[in-house]
Amino acid sequence: MSADTITRTRVAIVGAGPAGLVLSHLLQEAGIESIVVDSRSREDIEGTIKAGILEQGAVDLLSSIGTTSRVHTLGDRHDGIVLGFAGEEHRIDFPGLTGRSVWLYPQHEVLIDLIAARLAAGQDLRFGATVTSIDGVDTSSPRISGTHADGEPFTIEAEFVVGADGSHSVVRPVVTGPSRQGGYFREYPFAWFGILCEAPKSSEELIYSNSSSGFALISQRSENVQRMYFQCDPEVDPNAMSEAEIWDTLQARVPGTELKEGPIFQRDVLRFRSFVSHELRNGRAALVGDAAHTVPPTGAKGMNLAIADVILLNEALQELLLQGSERGLDRYAETASQRIWKAQHFSWWMTSMLHLTPEASDFDRMRQLGELRTVVESEAGRTYLAEAYTGWPFATTL
Ligand SMILES: Cc1cc2nc3c(=O)[nH]c(=O)nc-3n(C[C@H](O)[C@H](O)[C@H](O)COP(=O)(O)OP(=O)(O)OC[C@H]3O[C@@H](n4cnc5c(N)ncnc54)[C@H](O)[C@@H]3O)c2cc1C
Repeated sequence: MSADTITRTRVAIVGAGPAGLVLSHLLQEAGIESIVVDSRSREDIEGTIKAGILEQGAVDLLSSIGTTSRVHTLGDRHDGIVLGFAGEEHRIDFPGLTGRSVWLYPQHEVLIDLIAARLAAGQDLRFGATVTSIDGVDTSSPRISGTHADGEPFTIEAEFVVGADGSHSVVRPVVTGPSRQGGYFREYPFAWFGILCEAPKSSEELIYSNSSSGFALISQRSENVQRMYFQCDPEVDPNAMSEAEIWDTLQARVPGTELKEGPIFQRDVLRFRSFVSHELRNGRAALVGDAAHTVPPTGAKGMNLAIADVILLNEALQELLLQGSERGLDRYAETASQRIWKAQHFSWWMTSMLHLTPEASDFDRMRQLGELRTVVESEAGRTYLAEAYTGWPFATTL
């Protein structure tokens, strides 16, 4: 093994997910050099199926990055969602209530666009490079160290380190202290059983259904591939159910819609967790995206929240690195936390309104239906849901 090579840059970004890639773009626009490292291969990153719903503000930002964004050509604008309960379906009309929409554009397509744009712009973007240690965040030259896929060690010395490295963040303990308890945490006693199937759309818009048989979400991917979910036990084996059982379960939970079935080519079980790190910044290191917080997927907020964090941190880093002022950094955690907790609340609210816990009583079930009816029959209720789902305006540290 050869000796460790040390590279210098201004900002070392750990993680080439949406958060890390968008931040490197915004920094470059301001003339600030960065290096982005990710432990996974480009193929793995570009092939992992995750988020699907983008807020209007996130779409506007993504479509301005390079010439590679296909969000307006491949993506689908959604002007509403359907809430199903008590055998009824109620549409929430986003533009009518808020003047905004969301876009269905899968996260792996976002990443394909972003990686192409960053490489075309000359970004130092390293795949297969795993960060194992972060040092010196209490000095003006923090370092990240790790190994490349071939076992070669590397060290990057920077003026700031950003943890954009997802929910198992290696940067987080440096920001919050070594304890893994460094955050507010909630685990839910249920999960989503998710499928991808080759089939035409069963519905043009997402259907969130709280039926007497349980929760289901009917979502879309493209004209020929669909994504659907139903509430399940977190311990369930995704391969234990036959395709016929999966379709019967889904169909029973959306009684108002006839599902168009097709071969299922991916299944997974998605646990529900809420987490917010106690600290978002320590000295010359900060957290963004899933490294800083996790939301259950019901509100479709994770990737959108990552982009909102990055917009704030970019402003703060510009103040630090171009003007020598820590004012923005000092405000970063407080400003970012306001949106994070609004999104936590919205994700928790959608989750608790649509799912039943295993110990729920008949009273709980009837109260939940009363809550759904309160929302759909009130313009104020529908407007709150539409405002939160399509996304609040971006904040600023300026
Ligand atoms: C099924 C599902 C559906 C979802 N639906 C939505 C939705 O509709 N809308 C929405 O907004 N969000 C949604 N989300 C959430 C969204 O996918 C995440 O919030 C988003 O990926 C967060 O982006 P990020 O850049 O912070 O982290 P990530 O995308 O997790 O990226 C972190 C990167 O860091 C790398 N990394 C980790 N550790 C290291 C290390 N030690 N060294 C180097 N690299 C490292 C990882 O390989 C990874 O590529 C969904 C998630 C799932 C799973």
